[in-house]
Amino acid sequence: MTITKNKVALIHYTLKDDTGEVLDSSEGREPLAFIQGIGNIIPGLEEKLEGKAVGDKIETVIGPEKAYGLRSDDNVHIVPLSSFQADGDEKLEVGMQVRVETNQGVSLADVSKIEGEEVTLDLNHPLAGETLHFNVEVVDVRDATREELDHGHAHGPGGHHHH
Ligand code: ZN
Repeated sequence: MTITKNKVALIHYTLKDDTGEVLDSSEGREPLAFIQGIGNIIPGLEEKLEGKAVGDKIETVIGPEKAYGLRSDDNVHIVPLSSFQADGDEKLEVGMQVRVETNQGVSLADVSKIEGEEVTLDLNHPLAGETLHFNVEVVDVRDATREELDHGHAHGPGGHHHH
């Protein structure tokens, strides 16, 4: 069986940036489980994994346009410090991540600057603008269950767990 749309694939992967620094890896964890072809993983990786089978190993470089997109100033917002006062007693600091309401629902934003009463929030994905270097090994390919397709994600080891 090969990886095609609506198959569940399990992969081990290591992700490095341009400098060779490891950003993420499944080493020492369950392999990552995802449904192919529905956007569970970045488009560039779906493309490279299409048609691959168990045991296949790939090494690939994916530009930001097929990964997490380019950084955009539209995703940087200045909000008043007073809008955070209701969030309990934790002091707001640069580098913290906060939850914010956006048109697309709740999103994570980095606090990138605090100046007087103004807080700069960066909603760009942390990997926006990055070229990603992947080493991937396919460890399993199977049919997705009806429930998995309904939910839009893989279940079981390496996938989603519902309680
Ligand atoms: Zn589910």
